[in-house]
Amino acid sequence: MGACELCGKEGVGTRRAKVSQSVLECCSGCIASMGLVVEQRPTKIIQNNEQSSLVTGKGVSGIDIMTKDATELAGDFHARIRNSRKIKGLSQKDLARMMNVKIGVIQKAENGNRPTDSTLEKFERALGISLFVEAIPRSNTMVAN
Ligand SMILES: [Zn+2]
Repeated sequence: MGACELCGKEGVGTRRAKVSQSVLECCSGCIASMGLVVEQRPTKIIQNNEQSSLVTGKGVSGIDIMTKDATELAGDFHARIRNSRKIKGLSQKDLARMMNVKIGVIQKAENGNRPTDSTLEKFERALGISLFVEAIPRSNTMVAN
């Protein structure tokens, strides 16, 4: 038990609280009546550790794997490719050069022929788009229909 540095009351439990610019030992009565901010113990480091361990505990990598499994090629992938290419003002020839593929690859893809996964990735990189969408489970599709 100490003494309140604010009201001078002795034999009371005090806590360090901020008063103007300084930190004083204050009794709970002063803290309550003056609405003082009680100085917190430096537990921030521990809190951060808890937070980061929580994130890893959720298994971020696990979610990534699940997302990968649950994606499929967008049904309108050819439209996405064509639209993005036009927005960027690229000709099929330009895009083919950027991706280091033959122009026929671009033409086929834009006509709706599914290219290989590695080619799709080239499209995504060259155009800065995403061609894969979240796969809708069959049961959900039936409910929606
Ligand atoms: Zn006091």
